[in-house]
Amino acid sequence: MSEERFDAIIVGAGPAGSTAAYCLAKAGLEVLLIERGSTSGAKNMTGGRLYGHALHKVIPNFWEEAPVERRVNREIVTFMTGKSAISLDVKSEKFNDYPSFTILRAQFDAWLAGKAEEAGAMVATGVRVDKLLMENGKCVGVLSDEDEMYANVVIAADGVNSLMVRKAGLVEELKPKHVATGAKAIIELPQSVIQDRFNLNDETGATQLFVGECTKGLQGGGFLYTNKNSLSLGLVVTAEQFLHTEHRMADLMEDFRMHPAVQPLIEGGKLVEYSGHLVPEGGLGMMPPLVNDGLLIVGDAAGLVLNTGWMVRGMDFAIASGEAAANAIIQAKKAEDYTKAGLASYQKDLENSFVLQDLKTYQKAPEFMENPRIFGLYPELVEEMMINLFGVRGEPAQPLRKSMLQTVKRQGGMVDIAKDLWKGVRAL
Ligand SMILES: Cc1cc2nc3c(=O)[nH]c(=O)nc-3n(C[C@H](O)[C@H](O)[C@H](O)COP(=O)(O)OP(=O)(O)OC[C@H]3O[C@@H](n4cnc5c(N)ncnc54)[C@H](O)[C@@H]3O)c2cc1C
Repeated sequence: MSEERFDAIIVGAGPAGSTAAYCLAKAGLEVLLIERGSTSGAKNMTGGRLYGHALHKVIPNFWEEAPVERRVNREIVTFMTGKSAISLDVKSEKFNDYPSFTILRAQFDAWLAGKAEEAGAMVATGVRVDKLLMENGKCVGVLSDEDEMYANVVIAADGVNSLMVRKAGLVEELKPKHVATGAKAIIELPQSVIQDRFNLNDETGATQLFVGECTKGLQGGGFLYTNKNSLSLGLVVTAEQFLHTEHRMADLMEDFRMHPAVQPLIEGGKLVEYSGHLVPEGGLGMMPPLVNDGLLIVGDAAGLVLNTGWMVRGMDFAIASGEAAANAIIQAKKAEDYTKAGLASYQKDLENSFVLQDLKTYQKAPEFMENPRIFGLYPELVEEMMINLFGVRGEPAQPLRKSMLQTVKRQGGMVDIAKDLWKGVRAL
């Protein structure tokens, strides 16, 4: 590896790292982007929906050239019990005003890293960084195997479990309540079958989120995203929940696939990929110091993910933080000051943008989601209401309030529900 000193070394070619590399290279800085995977994206996974606004700001209308799968214009939220599924289904052209796309990371990440390379960044794949090089408390480069590589600033874009930053003692150990475990299956189906099943055309896409039985009442949820020739189907469950249950992720996934609301959607499909990954979900409660002397932390490595229960957003946060980190380094180069103070605009930029403002708005969401009634009682209540409304037995009808009250009493009572409503309003 070269002996030269780079303006910036970026570790990790996910959305955060590649965006930072692209912005820096475009501004004419000497950039090295290091990725441990054999290609960028080879080791990466996500549920599958990219909210487009952040990348659109960096590469306007990126979807015209990027390998996106489908543009989402149909959103379905499904409450599940063992035998039922109750859905809210919205299909609207208005979603076009807020472009979001289903993507597959192997293709998408390779494209974005390619954009950074085209802009002039040096991209080294198949290289794992083992350690940050520190001198007098300042980060001066990275070590990979025997290779020392030096830079004015290192960007840690190496994802949720940033070992190099942890080894340097700059970030605390991950706590089970701050991360969720994600599992995902990619199921291949012919394009025409997907379009018929989800009422789509060649370009449009649907997303479906599931709450309740899919996680057996554990804190978390399920997702299904339509790609061109495949479906991304998966679950996200808070890691701490697995400490107190017999359930295993593989069994949850199997039951989810076989649920009567899911099985017909994937019927005839071929399982082509199965993967697992952690999701940082602790919000501001797990965020490390983002700026250090000679070091910026971006994306998942900084815990910049928002899980509100009905959406997981990490990629737009990663992209925006990558851009903000690049801008801070461009300013630091002008001032020739790579200290914490010289790089402080990174934190300020994030504070002024949706990244830290949304995390602040939803900072009570992780605590609210710890409530098991959201994943057990409430789907049951909705089920009971719908069965009572539409299940005509030919017997004298029982008033809706009576049957619902019975369910509520079985599970705790009205006071709990009122408290949950109040907490929900405050958290969300
Ligand atoms: C199951 C699941 C569902 C999700 N669903 C969504 C969704 O629908 N929408 C959304 O916006 N977000 C979603 N997310 C979150 C989103 O995937 C992440 O927030 C996003 O990928 C973070 O990007 P990043 O660039 O920070 O990190 P990553 O994408 O994790 O990239 C880190 C990169 O660093 C590399 N790397 C790591 N260590 C080293 C090392 N030592 N040396 C060299 N390279 C290294 C990795 O190989 C990887 O390429 C989901 C996540 C999961 C797990």
